[in-house]
Amino acid sequence: MVNTDIEIAQQAKMLPIDEVAGRLNVQEDQLELYGKYKAKLKDDFFHHSRNDKLGKLILVSAITPTPAGEGKTTTTVGLGDALNQLGKKTVIALREPSLGPVFGMKGGAAGGGYSQAVPMADINLHFTGDLHSIGAANNLLAALIDNHIYHGNEQKIDPKSITWKRCLDMNDRQLRNIVSGLQGNTNGVPREDGFDITVASEIMAILCLASDRADLKKRLKEIVIGFTYDKEEITAGDLKAEGALATILKDAFKPNLVQTLENNPAIIHGGPFANIAHGCNSVVATKTALKLGDYAVTEAGFGADLGAEKFVNIKCRQSGLRPSAGVLVATVRALKMHGGVKKEDLAKENLDAIEKGFANLKRHFNNMQQVYGISTVVSINQFPTDTERELALVQSLCEQEGIEAIRSTGWRDGGKGVVELANAVVNIAEVTEPAITFTYDDNDGLEDKIKAVVTKVYRGSGIQLSNKAKSKLREYEQLGYDHLPVCIAKTQYSFSDDVQLKGTPAEFTIQVRDVKLNSGSRFIVVLTGAILTMPGLPKRPAAENIDVDDKGVISGLF
Ligand code: ADP
Ligand code: MG
Repeated sequence: MVNTDIEIAQQAKMLPIDEVAGRLNVQEDQLELYGKYKAKLKDDFFHHSRNDKLGKLILVSAITPTPAGEGKTTTTVGLGDALNQLGKKTVIALREPSLGPVFGMKGGAAGGGYSQAVPMADINLHFTGDLHSIGAANNLLAALIDNHIYHGNEQKIDPKSITWKRCLDMNDRQLRNIVSGLQGNTNGVPREDGFDITVASEIMAILCLASDRADLKKRLKEIVIGFTYDKEEITAGDLKAEGALATILKDAFKPNLVQTLENNPAIIHGGPFANIAHGCNSVVATKTALKLGDYAVTEAGFGADLGAEKFVNIKCRQSGLRPSAGVLVATVRALKMHGGVKKEDLAKENLDAIEKGFANLKRHFNNMQQVYGISTVVSINQFPTDTERELALVQSLCEQEGIEAIRSTGWRDGGKGVVELANAVVNIAEVTEPAITFTYDDNDGLEDKIKAVVTKVYRGSGIQLSNKAKSKLREYEQLGYDHLPVCIAKTQYSFSDDVQLKGTPAEFTIQVRDVKLNSGSRFIVVLTGAILTMPGLPKRPAAENIDVDDKGVISGLF
C-alpha cells in the first residue's frame, strides 16, 4: 500500500533547523528557534541593499484545478529539491496552511508524497502561531471599533457603514452574517456584523505585502474600517490602533524556516487564499528566499487566472519582485475534467476528454507566457492512475502548440523525479531578464481594471456591476483610491464566475456583486458570482478522518 502524506512525513529524517540555516550561512543569532525543527528568521534578510546578489525567482502556478488540487505545492517542493540536486542553492517560499481547508475539503498545504515540507503536521496545524496572531490583530481592531461607538462615538462612525469584520481561521458558515452587541445597555451596541476566514482578512494581506516593519505599521494605520455619517473614511489610525496591531504582529512578521523531506530550506510565511484574497506568500518571505538562495521557487494559489494574476498585478506591482521563469502545473485528471469527465470517472483512461480539455491548459499557458510575460514551462504532474497513452498525449498536444512540457514525478520520487523540469527552468532563467507585463495601468479607472482582467485573462466578454458595486467604485475613485489594483474574488473552478463552466468558457459575463476598499493592503476587493469570504465545510469534512492516538501520533491529515 502507498504511504499517506502524513505517514511519509512522520518517517522524515529531519535535520535540526539551525543546521539547515547554517548551510545558508544564517548565523545562530539571526535565528529564533521554535523547538528543534522550526525557526523564525530575523529581519536582516528581507532588507536588500545594492550589493546583495539576489537569486532568480521562479513562479509555480497551475491550470484550473479539481477540488483536490493539482500539485503546485508538491511541484514547488520537488522543484526546489531538484534544483538543489543540480547544485543550485535553492530556497522555496510557500504559504502557510489555514485550518479551514485542513479540516474541510482540500486538505493540507505542505506538499504531498515525497515532495513535502516538514514537520508537516505542525505546518498544517498551529505552526508558529502566525495565523492566530493575524486573527488576534484583526479582532482587536474589531473590538476597538465597537468599543469606540459604545463609549460615545466621538468619531461619528456610522455603524451601518462598518466594513471591518471579525475573523476566525475555520470554515464556519454559521458566522458569515451575525447580529452582535445584543442584550442592552452594558453589552455593546447592536449591529449587523459577520466573520471572514482569517486568510481573507486585510491584516493577512497587509502582513504579506508590507516591505518592512515601518511599511507594516503605515499600512495598518491606513486601513479604512468604515465611514462617518458624512461619508468620510475612518481609519485604524483614527482609532489609534496601528501601534497595538503591529505589536501583536511583531513575531508573525518574521518568515518561518523549515525544511523539505530532503533537508533543503523552505520558508513558509503568510497564507492568503487566492480565490478570496491575493494568494501569495509574504513579500518578506520571497525576498528572504532571494537573498539566501541562487534560486527561489514560490507558489501562487489555485489556477493561473487567480494566484498568478494577483502575483503579477498585486504582489509584483507593489514589491518590485520580478520572476525569471514560470512553471504551469497540469494533470491528466484535471484535463479530463475539463473535457467533461465526471469526478468519479477521473481515474479511467479517456483520451478524447484530454484532447477536449487541453484548451484549458493552452489558455493558462498563453496567459502566463503572453499576458503576464513570464517565460513558462509546463510540468505534467504524474499521478499513479495516469496511463502512458494519456501522458504521451498531453505531451504531444503541448508539442503541437510549441509548448515545452515535462513530466514530473516528485510526488513518487522526490527531487530526482523533477530534475528534468529543474533543468528546463534553469535553461529559461539563465537567459531571461526578469520581467513582467501588467494587465492594466495604475492610472486606469477601477471599472476598466476589472474589465481588463476579465477580458484579457479570463477571456470573458465583460462585466456586469450591481448598483451597489457601481456606486461604491465611484465613491472610491472620488476619495482618491482610483490608482489601486483590483483583487478579484472568484471561484477557482472556472475561468468564469460559474463553477459549472469547465474548460474554456467563452462569451460569459462576470457578475460583480460587491466591492470593498482595502486601503492598507492597497487593493480593491471585487466580489464576483457566488464567492464568499467565509467558506463552509463540505458534507463529509476531512475532520471526520483526522485522529491522534494515545502517544500523540496524528493520522488522517492526508
Ligand atoms: P496545490 O498546491 O496545487 O493545491 P498540492 O501540491 O497541495 O496541490 O496537492 C494536492 C493533493 O494532491 C495533495 O494531497 C497531494 O498529496 C496530492 N498529489 C499531488 N501530486 C500528486 C501525484 N503526482 N500523485 C498523487 N497525488 C498527488
Ligand atoms: Mg498549494
